[in-house]
Amino acid sequence: MNKRAYNFNAGPAALPLTVLERAQAEFVDFRESGMSIMEMSHRGAIYESVHNEAQERLLSLLGNPKGYKVLFVQGGASTQFAMIPMNLISEGQVGSYVMTGSWADKAFKEAKLVGGAHVAASSEDKKFVAIPELSSIKAADNAAYLHVTSNETIEGTQFAEFPDAGSIPLIADMSSDILCRPIDVNQFGMIYAGAQKNLGPSGVTVVIAKEELLAESPSNIPTIMRYSTHYKNNSLYNTPPSFSVYMVNEVLKWIEEQGGLAGIQSKNLEKAGLLYDHIDGSDGFYSGVAEKSSRSIMNVTFRMQSEELEKRFVKAAELEGFVGLKGHRSVGGLRASIYNAVPYESVKALSDFMNHFRQTQG
Ligand SMILES: *Cc1c(COP(=O)(O)O)cnc(C)c1O
Repeated sequence: MNKRAYNFNAGPAALPLTVLERAQAEFVDFRESGMSIMEMSHRGAIYESVHNEAQERLLSLLGNPKGYKVLFVQGGASTQFAMIPMNLISEGQVGSYVMTGSWADKAFKEAKLVGGAHVAASSEDKKFVAIPELSSIKAADNAAYLHVTSNETIEGTQFAEFPDAGSIPLIADMSSDILCRPIDVNQFGMIYAGAQKNLGPSGVTVVIAKEELLAESPSNIPTIMRYSTHYKNNSLYNTPPSFSVYMVNEVLKWIEEQGGLAGIQSKNLEKAGLLYDHIDGSDGFYSGVAEKSSRSIMNVTFRMQSEELEKRFVKAAELEGFVGLKGHRSVGGLRASIYNAVPYESVKALSDFMNHFRQTQG
C-alpha cells in the first residue's frame, strides 16, 4: 500500500485507517447480501440494524444518558443553524448565543433570520482568541436556549467547561470536537455535529437531544425541517445517507477500541501537548494564536513572524507529505487539525518537521 499522507485537514478530515480497511473489505458484498450497503433499501433489515446500532453505540459511548435520542439528518451542521431557531424559538423569544468565532457567528446569523438572536457573551474584542469567562455568559430573559460552539475550528479555541444555562436548554455545536473527551451529556439539551471532522465522512449530521425538544415541533415549518418528523420516524422519514451512517458506526466501534472517550482524550491530550509544547518552546519562532486557557486540543492554530515565512513553511511541509496546514482563508496563519483519527505518528512527524524547519530557516 502507498504511504498515507500526514493528514491535518480541517474537514473532511482523516479517518482511522482500520475503519477504511474494514469498509473496503465489506464494500462490495455487505453481510453476504450480494450488494454494498449503498445499494440496498434503507427500509430493509440490514440497513436498519446498522442505523439502530450506530444510534445505540453513540449513546453508549456518552454513558447512556436518560431521555436522549439520536437523530441522523442531512444538510450539515449549517442546516442545524437554521433548524434550531425554527423549531425551538416561539413568538416573543430569542436564542442566546455565545460569540466565540466564525462558526458561532454563522449560527447566530441564522437565528437572527428565523427567530431572533441575542449575544450572551462575546470574545470579539479579543479577536476570538479566547473563550469568554463562563461567569460573563448571560442568556436573555426571553431566551429559548443558550447556544455555544464547543470548539471553534477556525480560531482554534475550545470550551474547557460549559456554562450553566439554568432552566433553558444548553445547545452545543460540537462539529469539530464531538467525542474527543468525556462530557456530561445531561448538561445539554442538544448536541449536534456534522460528521466529517470526528465521526466519519460528510453527508450525515448527528443530533443528540432530550426527547422533549424533539417530540413536538411547530406545524408551520416545512415537514423535513421539523425535529418531530425525524424523531417520530427514527430518522427514516426520507432516505438517509446510508453509507455515511454505516461509516459513523464503524468509527464509533473504533472509538470503543481506543478505550472509549477516556482513552481517546488521553491520546488527544498527548498529541496536542506535543505541538503546543513545541510552539511554546520555540523562542517565538512559532506562536500560538489562542490564549493558553482556551486552546483547542483539536485545531492547533499558530503563526510565524511573517506571512512569507508561513508560505515557505506550508510549501516545505507539502514536499514532506504534510497536508492541510494552511490556516483558514479568513484568518490566515497555520493550523494543524488533529482530530481523534489523526495518529500520534503524524503529529510526532509534524513536530519533528517544525523543529527541523526552525533549525534550518530560523
Ligand atoms: C465544520 C463546522 C461546521 C459546518 O459544518 P457543515 O457540516 O459543513 O455544515 C459548523 N460548525 C463547526 C464548529 C464546524 O467546525
